[in-house]
Parts: sequence; C-alpha cells; structure tokens
Amino acid sequence: MPHLDLQASESASTLACDVCIIGTGPAGCTLARELSGTALRVLLLESGGFDRQERADALNEIESVGRSRVLNQWQVRNRIVGGSSHTWTGRCAPFDEIDFEHRDWLPHTGWPFGLDHLTPFLDRSREYLGLGVGTGFSDDRFWKLAGQTQPAKRPDPDYLRPFFWQLSRDEVSRRDFMRFGRHLLRQLGANVTLVTHATVLRIHTDDAGLRVSSLEVIDPQGRRHTVRSSTVVVCAGGIENARLLLASDQRIPGGLGNANDLVGRFLMDHPRDTVGVFPRVSRPLRKHFLSYRVKSATGENRYLRGFRLSPELQKAEHLVNCSAFVREIIAPDDPWNAFTRLLNDRSTARRDALTITSHPRLFARGLYNYFLARKGTPHKLTQLELVCMCEQTPDPNSRIRLSNQTDRWGKRISQIDWRTHEVEARTIRRMATLVAAHFSSIGEVAPRLEEWIGKGEPFPPNTFPDVAHPMGTTRMADNARNGVVDRHGEVHGIQGLYISGSSTFPTGGHCNPTQMIVALSIRLADTLKQRLLDVLPAEIEGATGTTG
Ligand SMILES: Cc1cc2nc3c(=O)[nH]c(=O)nc-3n(C[C@H](O)[C@H](O)[C@H](O)COP(=O)(O)OP(=O)(O)OC[C@H]3O[C@@H](n4cnc5c(N)ncnc54)[C@H](O)[C@@H]3O)c2cc1C
Repeated sequence: MPHLDLQASESASTLACDVCIIGTGPAGCTLARELSGTALRVLLLESGGFDRQERADALNEIESVGRSRVLNQWQVRNRIVGGSSHTWTGRCAPFDEIDFEHRDWLPHTGWPFGLDHLTPFLDRSREYLGLGVGTGFSDDRFWKLAGQTQPAKRPDPDYLRPFFWQLSRDEVSRRDFMRFGRHLLRQLGANVTLVTHATVLRIHTDDAGLRVSSLEVIDPQGRRHTVRSSTVVVCAGGIENARLLLASDQRIPGGLGNANDLVGRFLMDHPRDTVGVFPRVSRPLRKHFLSYRVKSATGENRYLRGFRLSPELQKAEHLVNCSAFVREIIAPDDPWNAFTRLLNDRSTARRDALTITSHPRLFARGLYNYFLARKGTPHKLTQLELVCMCEQTPDPNSRIRLSNQTDRWGKRISQIDWRTHEVEARTIRRMATLVAAHFSSIGEVAPRLEEWIGKGEPFPPNTFPDVAHPMGTTRMADNARNGVVDRHGEVHGIQGLYISGSSTFPTGGHCNPTQMIVALSIRLADTLKQRLLDVLPAEIEGATGTTG
C-alpha cells in the first residue's frame, strides 16, 4: 500500500479521496482493511508514526477536573500507528444481551439494536483480533469449545454466571497480542494510502453546516495541509473523537453534531480494582480459575475464566453489569517471565538464566502445562487477588469539555470531568460478596474482602481508576435529541461525517471494549460500501477486504 509521511513533506499539500479515516487504532485499521481492494480511494490519517514520539504523545494531554484519572496519557492511549493496541493486553469478549437493553432503573440505557444484530460482525472480528472464534465462547458454551466437562460445582445462576474472556493473538508473533499497526502496510491494498504524522485539527463542513467537506491537518513542522473528502470517519479514540467534534466550531458554535449539547457527555469507563486478597496461593484455585488454552482451525488461544452478575439479579436489585476474576500477582523472580524476557531481550540474560535454573520444578510444570495439559503457564506468585470490573450508569454530567489550556498547535485540550456513582460501588460490593461466598460454598479458599465492602461504603479514595476504556462521548441513538450519531454511526444532521469507536457506545457493559469496536467498524464498512458503491449485503458477506 502507498505510505505518505508528512514529516518528510516539503510543503503544504492538498489531498483528496472518497473516504478519509482519522486514526489507525483498531477502529480505523479495521475499517481501512475492510475498504481495501474496493473502488474507493481511501486516506488513513494518523497523528503519530511507527515509533513512539514524545511530541506526538503530548497532543493527548488532558486536564482532569472530576474523579481522579490516570494522568500519564501513554498509560491509557497511544498516539502511534496501531493506536492503543500498541500497549493493550488483548482481553476480548462480546457484550452481554442485557447491555443492549433499555433498563428502566438506569436512565439513558438501550442501544438501537441488540446482540443478535451484532453477532455476524463479532464473528467477522475474529480475524482482525487473532481470535479462535468470534462468538460463543464467553458463557457456558466455552466448555464444549474447550472439549472439557463443565465443573459440577457451579454458582447459583440466579446470582452469578460464568464468564470467559479470550486473549487476542498476533498472527505472526504468536506470544504477543494483536498489534494493529505491526502488519498494517502489507494488509492494505493500493486504493488505501496511509498518511502518518498527520494530526487533524478541525473538520470542515459546507457553508450550511450540513455536509462534511474537508479536514485541516498539521504536520510536525507546523505546515498545514488540506484533505478534501465528502465522507470522513472519525476513529481517533473515545476522548479525541469528542474533542475533534467540539474543536470543529468554526461554523457551528459548540462544534459539530452538538446541536443538542450531547458531544462529550455520558463519559464512561470501567471502574476496576482489587476487592480482596486470597489468604494463600491455592493450587486448585489457580488450576480452575485462571487460564485455559483452546485450539481452533487458526491456532491456539488463551481464555480467562471469571464470573458475571446474572441479569435477573441486576433487574431485581437495580444494579449495573459487573464481572469478577482472579488475578495473579507475579513475583519479580518468576522463571517464566524470565524465559519470555530472554527470548526477546538479551540485556538481562545472565540474571534471567539464573532465575530459570533456580526454579527447575516450576519451569518443568510449565512445560507440562503448555504441551500436555493445555493450560496457562504457572508463574511464581506473591499473591492471588479478586478483581471486579463494572459498567457505569450513563450520566450526562460525566463529560469532556474543551479546556482553556491548549496543545502546541493552539488546539484546546480535553477537560475531563469523570464521575462514578453509588450504584457502581453497590454493584461491586454485591459482586465481591457473592463470589467470596461461592468460593466458600465449593470448599475453595475464599478471599479476604476489603473493609469498605463489608461496611457498605462508597469506593475509597484513590481506588477504581479509569482503565483506558473511555466510552459514550458521541453516543448512538436513533433520535438526535438522545444521541450524537445514528444507528449507522453517522453524525445526526451532518451528511458524510461518521464516527467509529467506543465513543458511540450508549452503555459500556462490564467487558473490555475492543472486540465491540472492531465489530462496529466492520458493520460501518458494510454501510459505506452500500452507500458509496451500491454493493448489496449478499455481495459483502463473502468479502474480507484484506489483501494480506
Ligand atoms: C495499557 C492498555 C491495555 C488495554 N487492554 C485492553 C484489553 O485487554 N482489552 C480491550 O478490549 N481493550 C484494552 N485496551 C483499550 C484498547 O486499547 C482500546 O479500546 C482500543 O485501542 C480503542 O481503539 P480505537 O481505534 O477506537 O482508538 P485508539 O486505539 O485510541 O486509536 C486512535 C488513533 O487515532 C489517532 N489520533 C488521535 N487523534 C488524532 C488526530 N487528531 N488526528 C489524527 N490521528 C489521531 C491516535 O494516534 C491513535 O492512533 C487497553 C488500552 C491500554 C492503553
């Protein structure tokens, strides 16, 4: 595929295309790959380059005025080709059915469609994420998939349900998660041009403000470029998507798609933290509640086991959705981490070799687990913890505005007023107590829960931070009064301007968002093919759109 690096450009330029995609994270890369090989001329703009650059990262700075957030933005999003998949940890699963429903105890809930509608797109997300299967793995169906018998000691389904996450796997570096930027150049066809070091400052519309027309782009030298396109898809991530719309206020005060003052509102993340510590590192607990390896036609994937709250309990007690899992805290002298380091980096080779030879039994058990038992590697641990992660209630006051502080290009940075709520702490307390009781009831070692849980208190200070899953800031709704984009991802009232990513989620579920993001990008690609090329859904079905 063609690649244009604006860092090396000699002068300001004007580019033109049929579809312009802003951002090369999972949302943008998937869309570009789906449009690859079609008759559309596509430009894929990325603010960063192929290597990490502090100057590019600095453009992600935020001002936090609400619940405290991670301030080092590199920890929560990456301005680089591949976006935050550059550092993500690969946990995937589709949302649950209840996540799409309107729940009368939670205002502003409900998607324009249900899980059934998204299932074919979730299935197609498999190849982009390096999964064994795209759906049918996150509930009881896992045991059949894994060729194993369901454990006899199951939690009461009125309260808790099993939940499984699948870990993404890079198609070449199989011990790593899928990094979307790594193979991008060879995955795209000649009709797609990747433009790096191209930071979009503003989106322009026609004089009436009804159609998208062009983008104002700046390169690292400060030269301004223009991209003309009648179809623009913003895939810049959950925070930048809102920031770009708000900053594009040259013609329409308040920014694009913001006639009803919804852009930036309803910011959600996944409050997640340790809720208890197991008094000892129990072998049965590790054996049954950590990871499983399952073979598929395309290779082998790891799956993690946990729990989710039953939908019935959520309804009966007016809770949000929530999951829980056991987390290993790995010792600094763990032989398997030393082994992985040794394969990739020789700078600590002597120390790593010594660590491996000092733990022969653990290393041998790891080999047995890997080759024979098809389980995860047994690390040397200091501790086992119980972790809960929950959905947030959509709240219009949890929001992103433009700060008075600016980045080096004079663009106002995001001012983030993130909020958590009583229902989230109540849900986590309920979940933690149920899981601890379940472990006791099956004769397993139970975690010692944090004090605030027994006391019925809110989240203690400096706990439950954001976990790099910003969602909801350009939410989807059929009616412009309730959402920024329609069910197809097009901004209400602005023809040709689309958004893809977690910012369009009306609710955030308990689950990591990226598989849903990829599925929605595939769905949007189908919509664009239909609208711009007049391709019928039946013709689209067989096409993967990839060349690599
Ligand atoms: C440490 C870490 C661990 C994570 N683990 C998981 C996990 O296990 N499971 C999971 O589901 N999710 C995880 N996530 C979240 C996951 O990475 C995101 O959900 C996903 O990357 C979002 O994809 P996206 O394409 O919407 O946005 P991003 O990945 O944020 O990509 C946006 C892209 O747009 C570019 N961009 C931004 N602004 C502009 C502009 N103005 N002009 C041009 N380009 C621009 C950025 O440089 C970036 O490349 C993790 C994230 C982090 C940081």
